[in-house]
Amino acid sequence: MTGGIRPKRLRALGLSALLALAGSVPAAVGAVYLSWRVDTAGQRATLATTAQAVIQHTGDIYSSATAALRSMAATDYAPCSDQHIRHMRQLMVSSPITVGVAYVHDGVFRCSAFGLFDDQRRQSAPDVTRPDGVSIHIGVQSRFAPQVDVIALGFGDHAILIDPSLLLGYAIAPGISVMLLADDGQLIAARDRDAAINVQTLASREGTGTENDVNYAVVRQDGWTVIATEPAIGLTAYVRAESPMLLWLVVIITACSGSVIFWLTRRRHSALSELAAAVRHREFVVHYQPIIELETGRCIGAEALVRWRRPDGTMARPDEFIPLAETSGLIRPITDQVIERVVFDLNQMLVANRSLHVTINLCAEDISTGRFLPVLAAALDHTGIWPEQILLEATERGFIDVEGARRTLIEARRIGHGTAIDDFGTGYSSLQYLQTLPLNALKIDKSFVDTIGRGAATSSVTPHIIDMAKTLNLLIVAEGVERQDQADYLNERGVELAQGWLFAKPLPPEGFIAFYQQRQQRFGAAPVRIKDSPRRPASRLAAGAPAAPATHP
Ligand code: C2E
Ligand code: CA
Ligand code: CA
Repeated sequence: MTGGIRPKRLRALGLSALLALAGSVPAAVGAVYLSWRVDTAGQRATLATTAQAVIQHTGDIYSSATAALRSMAATDYAPCSDQHIRHMRQLMVSSPITVGVAYVHDGVFRCSAFGLFDDQRRQSAPDVTRPDGVSIHIGVQSRFAPQVDVIALGFGDHAILIDPSLLLGYAIAPGISVMLLADDGQLIAARDRDAAINVQTLASREGTGTENDVNYAVVRQDGWTVIATEPAIGLTAYVRAESPMLLWLVVIITACSGSVIFWLTRRRHSALSELAAAVRHREFVVHYQPIIELETGRCIGAEALVRWRRPDGTMARPDEFIPLAETSGLIRPITDQVIERVVFDLNQMLVANRSLHVTINLCAEDISTGRFLPVLAAALDHTGIWPEQILLEATERGFIDVEGARRTLIEARRIGHGTAIDDFGTGYSSLQYLQTLPLNALKIDKSFVDTIGRGAATSSVTPHIIDMAKTLNLLIVAEGVERQDQADYLNERGVELAQGWLFAKPLPPEGFIAFYQQRQQRFGAAPVRIKDSPRRPASRLAAGAPAAPATHP
């Protein structure tokens, strides 16, 4: 025995691992992709912060430099006098970024903070002239700072020389390139400029982005443009760099999801083998919920509801096992056992009371294939039960395969069974296709009955469903009636039949038989011959009665 189980278990384990692996690779790649996206977004945010800090710093430096130039212009010292030169020197030492202050007249440098010039050097033409009248000269050679090209800010007859790198400030992390541009796109200063960057293209951009494998941020303020850039890490390079992490991720996700899949498979497998054993041991019994004629209070039938009586005596409700039975195909033998049970439980009673009928629930597959019809015929054979006394019901899911359903319903009708659509209003039913199916009854779902008298939004749907059923000439059965006011409302609206706890819960066979007899004593017996009385609901449930207006083929 164990020899048989182990390979099965191993196969399940292997399959779970394979499934988990198949799922975890895309999941891990997705996670790395997401983290790449997050990293890229973070990089751009840092660039934006840097560019903002630089433009702020540049603005501050520029404001203090131009203020100094204006104060110089306002003095009336004799040009290049001692006083004048001393004043320029004071100005220079008071500002840490100023590398020199000079007096220029007629385009020629005359004197500076250090004294007189004697070489008649001419000032270059301004590269930029700002709206406030300050001129900017780039790449100026200064004897004060011979190792760098400085920037000269000129106003009136004075010029202040500034180290361009100091204009950009210190808030720049290593690896980030920063460029300062004037309004017209002229490059004023740069830090770690990447030669591959097309400055003019980036200058036309806004905000942050990626261009030619470079992440950038562009900010503008007071006539300055600052561009901060950093090489972007491509996705492939990122994945390569993160491949150890990726591998771990795959391993962890595979292990976790594999265990979950394995556990679920095992659980389903054991639930399935338990259910299969229940089918083999015929552990299914049927309870019967009485169906009441609202106008007279008579019991005219019952719905057969399957129960699984486990060996320990506990009773499982269909919701706990029907879904698994449907997906595994075990529903077929279960339907067969329900049919056998119904015949076994109620044979005598059905023969003795011809107006009585039992409805059997069928799954979607039963309805589309009609497989159960010969099983039902064989079960009824020699019992004396009329096919008219057995009604078939299926939910709207059963009618998705419209053609298959039509074939089954036509055949069921030919044999004599009535048919009902269950849980009406909860699926996708449309009038159009309902009209084309040979149905006898429509069961209004409990969720609609619940809304009666509650003022809920869907309560307005209930009268429409009733009207629709009437248009289609279908008999209406209201499900889940729990209160008298619901029964009264439905009766007033012309709903013929109802079932629900107001009348009785699903009862074991003996309980149903007792209920029926009591009811018969109290309200009298329903008319005996089903087909004889076309206006009685019980007779309309039988297949011989007209269903939808004759639009179906
Ligand atoms: P359904 O066909 O809509 O059956 C009605 C369900 O509502 C039953 O639950 C019944 O016990 C419950 N019910 C009836 N009146 C009331 C009421 O007044 N209040 C409340 N709260 N509930 C009420 P059950 O027996 O658990 O059946 C659940 C579902 O299982 C059924 O819904 C049906 O779709 C399915 N089912 C039951 N027996 C079979 C069967 O033999 N074969 C198949 N394929 N499905 C079945
Ligand atoms: Ca039902
Ligand atoms: Ca139902």
